Amino acid sequence: MSISQREAPPDERDPLVPWTTEESARLYRLEDWGSGYLGVSERGTIEVYPSKDPSRKIDLLEVVEGLNARDLSPPVIIRFPDIIGYRMRDLRDSFDQAIRETGYEGRYSCLYPIKVNQQRHVCEAVRDLGHELGFGLEVGSKPELLAVLALTAGRNDMPVVCNGFKDDEFIETVILASKMGRNIIPVVEQFHELELLAKQAKAHQITPPIGVRARLAASGTGRWAGSAGFRGKFGLSVSELLRAVEYLRDQHLLDGLRMLHCHIGSQLSDIRTVKYAVSELSHLYVEMFRLGAPLEMMDIGGGLGIDYDGTQSATESSTNYTLDQYASDVIHRIRSVCDDAGVPHPHLLTESGRALVAHSGVLICEALSSRVVPDRPDAELVEGALGQEDVPQPLLDLMDAYERLADGDPTEVFNDAVHARDEALSLFNLGYMDVACRAASEELFWAIGSGLLRRLGEDSLDEIDGLPGLLGDLYFCNFSLFQSLPDSWAIDQIFPIVPIHRLDEEPTQRGILADITCDSDGRIDRFADELGPRGTLQLHPLLPDENGKAGKEPYYLGIFLIGAYQETLGDLHNLLGDTHAVHVRLTEDGRWRIDEVVEGDTVREVLEYVQFVPDEIRRTMRMDIEDSVDAGKLTLPEGVSLKRFLDLGMGGYTYLE
Ligand code: PLP
Repeated sequence: MSISQREAPPDERDPLVPWTTEESARLYRLEDWGSGYLGVSERGTIEVYPSKDPSRKIDLLEVVEGLNARDLSPPVIIRFPDIIGYRMRDLRDSFDQAIRETGYEGRYSCLYPIKVNQQRHVCEAVRDLGHELGFGLEVGSKPELLAVLALTAGRNDMPVVCNGFKDDEFIETVILASKMGRNIIPVVEQFHELELLAKQAKAHQITPPIGVRARLAASGTGRWAGSAGFRGKFGLSVSELLRAVEYLRDQHLLDGLRMLHCHIGSQLSDIRTVKYAVSELSHLYVEMFRLGAPLEMMDIGGGLGIDYDGTQSATESSTNYTLDQYASDVIHRIRSVCDDAGVPHPHLLTESGRALVAHSGVLICEALSSRVVPDRPDAELVEGALGQEDVPQPLLDLMDAYERLADGDPTEVFNDAVHARDEALSLFNLGYMDVACRAASEELFWAIGSGLLRRLGEDSLDEIDGLPGLLGDLYFCNFSLFQSLPDSWAIDQIFPIVPIHRLDEEPTQRGILADITCDSDGRIDRFADELGPRGTLQLHPLLPDENGKAGKEPYYLGIFLIGAYQETLGDLHNLLGDTHAVHVRLTEDGRWRIDEVVEGDTVREVLEYVQFVPDEIRRTMRMDIEDSVDAGKLTLPEGVSLKRFLDLGMGGYTYLE
């Protein structure tokens, strides 16, 4: 049979049945990880429900088009401050409910750790509602302390907890703020900080409230397991805690020792680790109380996780508990340990950061082009090569494997194809195969791979390791992984990704995403799925623009749940700077509006970060252009164009425009 007569293996889905938006919602599993904040509109676009009420919605494509019209083109982070508010209320409600149900006699507050997202507008949103809900803020460094002191000015009652390593200056600032009437508590991370505290307390004649961080034996699991445990970097060991009580007693400062603190790691995926840690901390709390420490607060740190992959399991990208279960387990544990010891229930604090802000941010980026693995070989090329005299054996073997594609044993077909492709490459490298035969071999190999993928579906390809990823189309997207999704690169964090439009069309391609940095690591090839991460994401083919010219219709992808940690951890790889960020809210009458715009870095700004002087660059280039025109290498209009590009470029976005 000639290659051009062969049918490609049949697709699983009947193409005559129209694809529905419900199928898209199921395919991308919006319900599993979207926590009720997302849905698909009838026209196939993603809708955001900031209060989980589908009648009050924001159409993401409409927002992106509105931003484009305002010269704020992707990549752009869209933040929904209303979602932060909703998450904060959820947390409040879950703990209030647990407190009511168990008869717990202490109160609960959350302290938002600003390192999770320090952008001023995010912090202000948390502060404003937080003040109403009795929440506070947490800092971990001197700059964060200064930012929070300013943020909470005029709100003296708002609790501020200071973690992190501290020097004299840090501690003096806290003590003075305490003297000003601020509700601020330094948490001692290392024993010598107690001595600094005692020195400053005496110098300013005040007994400040003091917290101590316990280095628990219990630790989290996964990425952040090192935050606690015997070898943890932070906190006082049990013997140091005992010494701390004695030291403060000697210094007449024991009255200040009000809080016991711990933090066993972020993204705690297994509720059992939370229970162990809270039990251990509660027992330490009652023991220290019995030794005379007037403790009244227990701070269990952060760690409340997010179900990034929607599997509701104890895997690294998920959690095997709900917010209500977390609150109930924590409150129940503390209460039972304190009741057994006859110790009053403490005011409970958590430093939940990720859980408050992760849902509030989505990164929108545009897929600019794609490199598609062909599912049929180039017939002319293959037939030409096969028509030669002395066709090399590997090419014949590949043709044979291709012919067995529809009914042969898949593993055997694939292994034969890999073997023949490798032999073809060796022959070519030794000079025994010409370039036409090599090209035909590659065409056949890719067509075999795609055919197997279509015949079996990605799920049944476990035995053909890595094939789905190998065959994924490469979608080149206008963003930098290092700037906008650092955790995807650094710790393989999974973020859910969904096209924000065309969801009324079947996504027929399987792709991986590549960013525009010059780094092969700048790609995403692990995607959330029910049975663990998969190697490709179903996407739509890119369409030519209306005129069928070189351009294409925009294709926008939303990368969700990026509100925590990503913005500040991002770096300037390739000098691709901060993206634009906007805050979008729903008005009373159901329209969306832009509340805040933070424009992304310009080329000039990123050059200055690395000590280039833009005006000097301009001057140098201007002279070089002048010399080139003088020497006849450039025409005068060409020189002017180049100069214009330089001038415009300096003030422009660092991403492709
Ligand atoms: N508190 C402390 C001391 C931390 O180090 C962290 C982050 O690791 C947090 C709170 C916030 O944790 P999460 O965002 O997991 O709630």
